[in-house]
Formats: sequence, C-alpha cells, structure tokens
Amino acid sequence: MNAKEIIKQAKELDKEYLFFNKIVEDPKVYGEGTLSGTAISVKDCVVVKGVESRAGSKILENYIPLFDATVIEKIKAEGGMIIGKTAQDAFGFGSFATNVGIGMKVPLNPFDKERSCGGSSGGSAGITQKATFNHISIAESTGGSIVCPASFCGVVGICPTYGRVSRYGLMDYANSLDKIGAMAKTIEEIALIMRIIAGHDPRDSTSLDKPVPNYSESIKKPIKGMKIGMIKEAFGEGLDKEVKDNVKQAIKRLESQGAKVEEVSLPLTSKYALECYYLIAMAEASTNLAKYCGMRYGAEEKVEGSFNEYFSKVRSQYFNAESKRRIIIGTFARMAGYRDAYYLKAMKVRTKIIEEYKKVFKKFDALICPTMPVIAPKFTEIEKLTPMQNYMMDILTVGPNLAGLPHITIPSGTKDKMPIGTMLIGDHLAEDKLMQIGAKLKAN
Ligand code: GLN
Repeated sequence: MNAKEIIKQAKELDKEYLFFNKIVEDPKVYGEGTLSGTAISVKDCVVVKGVESRAGSKILENYIPLFDATVIEKIKAEGGMIIGKTAQDAFGFGSFATNVGIGMKVPLNPFDKERSCGGSSGGSAGITQKATFNHISIAESTGGSIVCPASFCGVVGICPTYGRVSRYGLMDYANSLDKIGAMAKTIEEIALIMRIIAGHDPRDSTSLDKPVPNYSESIKKPIKGMKIGMIKEAFGEGLDKEVKDNVKQAIKRLESQGAKVEEVSLPLTSKYALECYYLIAMAEASTNLAKYCGMRYGAEEKVEGSFNEYFSKVRSQYFNAESKRRIIIGTFARMAGYRDAYYLKAMKVRTKIIEEYKKVFKKFDALICPTMPVIAPKFTEIEKLTPMQNYMMDILTVGPNLAGLPHITIPSGTKDKMPIGTMLIGDHLAEDKLMQIGAKLKAN
C-alpha cells in the first residue's frame, strides 16, 4: 500500500474512532531498512520534527518541534513512515484517554464505541487494532500507559526496562518513571521495533549502555523448563471473574509447553505500589509542568501584569482539570513540612518494592498476572468514578513501572467480545525472555 492510500485509510479510521491528534498529510520515507513499508504512529508526547506535538494538551497547541526524538530518528533511518500523532490523556495523566486537552478528541474503543480505548496511550492502541496496513505504534508508559490500552484494545504492548530506550525527545511526565515502548498486532513486530529503538543514547543520561539482543531470535526459543511466578495478590479481590479464568487458561497454555508455573507473593508491592506511584508521579509531574508558562512553548496570551499573574492566567486557561489536580497534589507532597512524610517516604517504599521484585527474580524468569482487572469500561461508567477509583484501575500495572521492570501484555481472550490481556513482567533488561514467553501465550 502506498503512502497516499495509507493516509486515506488512517483518516477514515480517525473520522470514526478519533485515534489521532494529528495526521501527517504527506508522510516521507527517509531511509531504507527493516521498517520499509511500515507505517508508524507516534504518541503525541514523543516529538517529531515539524509535526505539531502537544502531549494531548491544549497548552502545547501549535508547538512544532525543531528536532526528532531519538526513537524517531532511528525509525526514520530504518525506513519507517511516520503517519501521525495519536490521542492521549494530556501529559499521560489518566487510564482511559478521557483526560484530553480542552477541545481535543477522546478515542473510541474499536470493539465498542461506547467504551474507552484505555490510557493514556489510547489512540495508539486503537489505531494498532484497526489498521489494515503494516503498522506499529510508538507509545509511552509512566505507570501503565502502554499495557493498559493495549490490553483494552486487544493488541500486544511492551514497556521496556527504564533506560532501555532513550527518552530524548519525550515530553516528561515523571522523569524517574517514563519509558518509551511500542504496540503492534503481533509479537514479531514488537521484536522488530524493540531491536531498532532500544540501546544507548548519549543524549539521555539515564539510558543504559547495554547490548541489545536480537529479539526476533528470542521469540523462536522454546520455554521448556522456564520458571514463571503467578502473582498471588493479583488474582484476589476486585478482579473480574472472567478475566481471572481467562488468564488462568493462558497459564495452562504455558504449562503445556513445559514452563513451570508457581504461585508467588508480592505483599509489599500489592499493598503500597499504588499510593507510592501516585505520590512520586505527581511530585515529579508538578515540577515538570512548571515549564509550560505560555512563554516558551505552545499557548500564548497577551503579556499583562506581573509574571505570576501571567503564569496563572495561561495555566488556568489551558491546563485541564486532571493536570491541575496533579500539579496541586504534587506540589503539596513536595512542600516543606510534608516532603519527609510523603515524597521521601514514598521514595523509601519504592526501594523496598524494587528489592521485593529483585528477590523474586532470583528464582523466576518472569511473573504473570492479568494486565487490567476488568475489560475496557464504558464512558458512562468512567464518568461516575472518583479520582481515587480512577487511579485504582492501575493497581496491577504500577508495580513494574515503579521498579523500572519490563512488562508486556498479550491478548489472551475476550469477555462479551471485549479483549482481555495477560501481562508478563521480567527482570531488568529481560525483554528477550518476555518476548520468548509472550510468543507462546496467545490464544489460538
Ligand atoms: N494511569 C497512570 C497515571 O495516570 C499511568 C499513566 C502513564 O503511564 N502515562 O499516572
């Protein structure tokens, strides 16, 4: 399919499902390589030179980056064709892609338009499910934003180890948690794109200088004798019964191929990861968002009054409610007098959580659990959720994100025709094992 035809189809899909924030009208192919003939959509928060990049927020309207993120550079060099920026919760704040910037679009689930695509990389997951052309989406996760929407839309999604993929050119949500990853219909495509985007980048001081395996080879390896830990607490209260049964069947498939599955307990992570994540994420977000003051990027207003007056005017007008909520809570958690009680305590708990996982990975090659406790909810259900109930949706995904561990979701079945995802979590830099096991997980 040629570029024109692909864009025509992407536009049709966008009209119906609102997957994109921006479509590239005249996509160019810059190189030739393993991505030749593959269309690449990109979450709005990853910058693409010359293409309006807003991280889903009104405050960045008309911001046209002058450079490419490292992942985009690498993709272009391999012949990938950038087709557009996908819809997301502003700055990644959300689990349903409903916290979009004022006046922007909420993507609709490809299986039921009354339901969410998940978030925050909702548009990426939706277009990945619907695209009929060769396509891979570049997404981002801070606390679950790749695997949540991928599972709700029935596609494969990978969030790599923190530092495995360069964050240069990613608009920060929370620097110590942000990761760029990918979604695709098949694990073969995930293996391909990860080999391209992973690796050291001197422009990102947190990027890891470690060799990148050939993941396309990893997925072919058998799993006989591999040890997989089934996270006990993830199968407890609050989990939809059909999701639970489906993931248990997926586990049986792995066992039938010779993997040894055993129950494992992560008491600390299960109890504290959610609170710990939201405190750290919001504290970091509140400082990151300070740079959006209407002077350097995006939205601008007539300069009047003192800096504080101008700053408040722009930010009150262009940030959405969820962004404001997070700035306020995050600032509170960092304030003198509260810092020790909240932020620093959360940092200590985070270290304990990492230790809990590390201990478990001495014994297991990977951990397994449902990706989300429920199928994609209806918008009418989401409207009724309190912010707290909203955050609780991330109960299963925040753990690996806090610990910087790679995780992957594989579509493993359906409930009422809506997709269910099974999640595998690996030790740091064990993306190869996740793909090896993940390749055997898919329902036939
Ligand atoms: N739902 C989580 C949050 O709102 C995760 C978002 C993300 O990973 N970007 O923080």
